[in-house]
Amino acid sequence: MATILYIDADSNSRTLIERILVYAGHHVLTASRALEGIEIAKQRQPDLVLTDLNLPDFSGHEVASQLRAVPALAAVPIVALTEQNQIINKSLVTGVIAKPVDVVTLAVKVQSYLGGHRDSANPADQATEQMYRRELVERLETNVRDLEATNRELRRLDQIKDDFIQLTAHELRTPLTTVYGYSRLVQSLVPVQYLMAENPEVRVCLAGLMESIERLHAVVSEIVTVSRIASGRIDLKLGPTSITEVVEIVVSGYTNVLQQRGLNLVYDSSTWPPQFYADMGLLELAISNLLSNAVKYTPDTGTITIDVRLEGDRMRISVKDTGIGIDLVDQQHIFDRFYTAGDTQLHSTSKTAFRGGGLGLGLAICRGIVEAHGGKIWVESEGCDEQRLPGSTFFIDLPFNYQLVSRPVVTPAPGTS
Ligand code: ADP
Repeated sequence: MATILYIDADSNSRTLIERILVYAGHHVLTASRALEGIEIAKQRQPDLVLTDLNLPDFSGHEVASQLRAVPALAAVPIVALTEQNQIINKSLVTGVIAKPVDVVTLAVKVQSYLGGHRDSANPADQATEQMYRRELVERLETNVRDLEATNRELRRLDQIKDDFIQLTAHELRTPLTTVYGYSRLVQSLVPVQYLMAENPEVRVCLAGLMESIERLHAVVSEIVTVSRIASGRIDLKLGPTSITEVVEIVVSGYTNVLQQRGLNLVYDSSTWPPQFYADMGLLELAISNLLSNAVKYTPDTGTITIDVRLEGDRMRISVKDTGIGIDLVDQQHIFDRFYTAGDTQLHSTSKTAFRGGGLGLGLAICRGIVEAHGGKIWVESEGCDEQRLPGSTFFIDLPFNYQLVSRPVVTPAPGTS
């Protein structure tokens, strides 16, 4: 049994030829692109390489000259599959098989090349091989130039997109703040209060209106914050911050939700470190986003645990839940802007319901805030499983500023304030 590497971009041909060769008792490795094929050849060192000449990235000739340059592959027979009338430099390859392949004779021909048969032409001289390599290098250089141009264009479009998002969010926020203010004012007017008391329908309508305005306000604020963070315009207002106070403020905003959903929130702040330097408001936002996610992705009656501890000169905050967990692949992207894992169709529109919807901005905001503090954020989860509920733990590591803690407390002299 021989190991044959077969490179062809056409999936139908791949399936057919692989079957024929496997049927003939060979072990077949396949690749759809030249670079992939060359990589496999280097790693697996096949007994024979069968390659189509029309590959999307390199030509079959270039594949052959690249393979010949690898000492371990110098003696491996390379057989080219050619279309009718295709010009081929036979000196570069051991043999040629015409396409469409003859199903009956293919295996026999391959066997003969494996046995040492070579089509008539003399092996390529160094000059020919060098010519193909030069062509390859020239083509790669052109590709690199094209890629650079595409990259510049993508950056320009990305910038336009960022500017657009930022501008739209700002333009929306101003009238929305006015709408919000007027709606609250309307609600507080005596005749409206009277109407609300008299007519439950008025009450329901106004409550629905306020809820939607608040939601819209939150979404727009989220976009403004994330675009600020993305453009590096995040100003930290650093000051003495107590992590216990931050967590307590955040948790107080979730008391009702936790109760409604039967979720247990566990934390013991008695051992938590004292004050350190941070932007308290932004830290609140980051921890609130983590808690909001823990609530969203943990089914009713689950448990959320918040912990804070000192690890050397860093403070480690963790938010652990007993929820659905996060797929390993998604874990690499969830801190990116507008990335949402799972099926967004399943999302509920409420931000506090199980699988409540979001824009995929919460964690991007967290990362921006944490990195602005010189810290890092990451997640650990065994994967996503709605039955087993493996849960997720989010960690935030922040530099813990000892100077602040050890700064002498200046007691005011009597009579001063
Ligand atoms: P969103 O506002 O849509 O929740 P985030 O940026 O906060 O966006 O989170 C991105 C994605 O990460 C979410 O769509 C969700 O799939 C996943 N995720 C975040 N936190 C958790 C968690 N605690 N458990 C499971 N999945 C989570």
